[in-house]
Amino acid sequence: MKGPMPHYSALALLRARFQGAGFWKPLWTGRTLQDAYDVVVVGAGGHGLATAYHLARDYGLKVAVLERRLVGYGNVGRNTTIVRSNYLLPENHYFYEDSLRRWEKLSSVLNYNVMYSPRGVVDLCLNDGDMIAAARRGNAMRLAGIDSELMELEALERFAPELATRGNRRFPIVGALVQRRGGTVRHDAVAWGYARAATAFGADIIENCDVQGLRTEAGVVIGVETTRGFVKANRVLFATAGHTGMVGTMIGLPLPIETHLLQAMVTEPIKPLINSVLIYGHPGHGETYILQSDRGGIVMGGHLDGFPSYTREGQWHRLEDVVQGAVDMLPQIGGLRILRQWAGTNDMTMDGSPIMDRIKYDNVFLNAGWCYGGFKTIPASGAACAQLVATGTAPDIARGFRLSRFATGHMLDERGDGPFPVRL
Ligand SMILES: Cc1cc2nc3c(=O)[nH]c(=O)nc-3n(C[C@H](O)[C@H](O)[C@H](O)COP(=O)(O)OP(=O)(O)OC[C@H]3O[C@@H](n4cnc5c(N)ncnc54)[C@H](O)[C@@H]3O)c2cc1C
Repeated sequence: MKGPMPHYSALALLRARFQGAGFWKPLWTGRTLQDAYDVVVVGAGGHGLATAYHLARDYGLKVAVLERRLVGYGNVGRNTTIVRSNYLLPENHYFYEDSLRRWEKLSSVLNYNVMYSPRGVVDLCLNDGDMIAAARRGNAMRLAGIDSELMELEALERFAPELATRGNRRFPIVGALVQRRGGTVRHDAVAWGYARAATAFGADIIENCDVQGLRTEAGVVIGVETTRGFVKANRVLFATAGHTGMVGTMIGLPLPIETHLLQAMVTEPIKPLINSVLIYGHPGHGETYILQSDRGGIVMGGHLDGFPSYTREGQWHRLEDVVQGAVDMLPQIGGLRILRQWAGTNDMTMDGSPIMDRIKYDNVFLNAGWCYGGFKTIPASGAACAQLVATGTAPDIARGFRLSRFATGHMLDERGDGPFPVRL
């Protein structure tokens, strides 16, 4: 920019905001609700927005995304931004790898910087049993063409020197499974980038529009009842994450999903200390994972709170567990103050894997059950789900995510990955 930066007083900014003057333009267009659409997507989280984008871009369909609150208000804006594809089962690792490859290119595809940071995801091993399980998972990944490295202590010390593995530790660290292409992506930017790109292809995104029911005619769904009236739709997709159980109740179909809280927290900012994502499954307190944000805050989280809830008010004991694990892992952060803590509602399936399928009606679809790990799958899920909704057939990499597996017993029992109970 030539010349001095323009200076706006706070009053001028406020006036401009309310008078709709030039700067502070809305990031996306398509805010007017029409009477009828080819597809209504319920829920403007990551999965709903990405699916809408692909439906509009790849299939030329007229799409509305109806959101009860605001774009980014749900878990897409509450997660801890970790992306990776280090899963054991083929039904999962090919899908998550498809997503990781899409993350690598997403900023240029959307023409919006989503700040993909391949800083490495490090699953720490505390004993020989952990190392054996990590080797098994790493080998499965490598056979599928996915990067993974089993690091013994010397290599790990070079990769993450802040761990001070030879110090006087409460639990010894003996090695790690590392995926260097794993890392983080800026979560809000993902919601905004997809919203902007979807509306550029003609989609409408309607906030403050709660979907409360389906309208049928002769056994076929013809649209949705909302707080802003009836909206006609040839097809309906529910991508409502933590509220999927309520959707099941609404349409009269019990789903194998429970809603549980997951918390995260962030400390005051410090100078750069951690340059990867560290995951520590420890015997004392369950699990802690930890990373450093671009602002310098140490972001951390752990297990679910442990009982179904929609409150978004995390339990104190879980916060305590996470912090104790973090200080076990990195004693040098023990004096930092926690600045804030938050929680989100997660749609937990009983095998830890998602559901992408038709439900109850020929023209109604569900994209759900992403548990505590669904941020990382948003790009792959958007493309796969759009194919399912547009053509009626899911791509091969998403075929394992059928709802019927809970009836036939073909579970994808992974809960995030190999040996540990929780993975983000
Ligand atoms: C603390 C925390 C940390 C996490 N960390 C990670 C991580 O590091 N990596 C990772 O991969 N995953 C992580 N996750 C999980 C991830 O955030 C979720 O799996 C994923 O975001 C869920 O999909 P979504 O973005 O579409 O959901 P959401 O953003 O929750 O979108 C669903 C939307 O549907 C709307 N909605 C619901 N019902 C209705 C209705 N009837 N009518 C209209 N709108 C409706 C909601 O308001 C909401 O906006 C984490 C989750 C939490 C809570």
